Amino acid sequence: MLQQTRVETVIPYWQRFLARFPDVASLASAELDEVYGLWAGLGYYSRAKNLSRAAKTVVERFAGELPRETEALRSLPGIGRYTAGALASIAFDRPEPVVDGNVERVLARRLGMRDDVKRPEAARRIWEEAARLARGRRPGDLNQALMELGATVCTPRVPRCDACPWRSACSARASGDAEAIPFRAPRAVVPRVHAVAALVRRAGRALLVQRPAGSLLGGLWELPGGAIGRAEKPADALTARVRERTGLGITDLAPAGVVSHAFTHRSLRLHLFAASAQRGRVRTSGDDRHRWVSERELAALQTSTLTRKAVRMLLAATGER
Ligand code: SF4
Repeated sequence: MLQQTRVETVIPYWQRFLARFPDVASLASAELDEVYGLWAGLGYYSRAKNLSRAAKTVVERFAGELPRETEALRSLPGIGRYTAGALASIAFDRPEPVVDGNVERVLARRLGMRDDVKRPEAARRIWEEAARLARGRRPGDLNQALMELGATVCTPRVPRCDACPWRSACSARASGDAEAIPFRAPRAVVPRVHAVAALVRRAGRALLVQRPAGSLLGGLWELPGGAIGRAEKPADALTARVRERTGLGITDLAPAGVVSHAFTHRSLRLHLFAASAQRGRVRTSGDDRHRWVSERELAALQTSTLTRKAVRMLLAATGER
């Protein structure tokens, strides 16, 4: 939960999650929909999906006990090098390194690295240095001390070198350019994409579709719609995407605003419409699911932040909220 998310935000989610899933077995036996429900609003839903899958794997392959070796930990969904190192060293006293943004900065400064720390060669050097340090009887404490040093003393701006236990062995301090490290190449511009979605109504109920398993945000419920093609107008794109995805024709299209949303690698402008469904049955392809919900269910829908923003705007625009 804490990946990319502030502690104050996480605390109530964590408490609710632990109250419902106090151990691995209870999480492993839960439906993904319920896990998403407790995650709704935290964002980055792949974390919830991975946690659920990891719990199932721990029960099936490791008899319900989290493995202690980093290789076995890294075989679990959602656990990469950082998390495996943190679990192995902090929970199981294994001499394994942990490199987060704070540790990266501290070690890059100590080593006086002046190349882009995101380049593979630089990253390898930092991990090697962290591994060299994570020895002794309490490697977990050492790793946490490094993170803490970065968070409280070797801060991104104005590091407090005079208070640092490494001040006499730090290359960046000796050369007086600590604030210029870690060096990072400028970020690429994030592409902007456009999509459409609609509140499609029939007999007082609204249509929801479920995102395909395996896709981004797979398994979550959302409003029907999809991407806008290069030469398409939003209303035309909406009519086409709704028909492709549900087999339904729509009518009475009314624009209801635009929601902006930032994903990690792109920014999205979601054009919203209210619409009515024409006669006919919904026909989704493959395993895709759909359902018709009341306005009340729609307003209380536990789903992605983007869909909840869209629903709020649509209900406000159509006078329901
Ligand atoms: S001496 Fe300064 S730059 Fe070097 S690790 Fe300590 S706080 Fe960071």
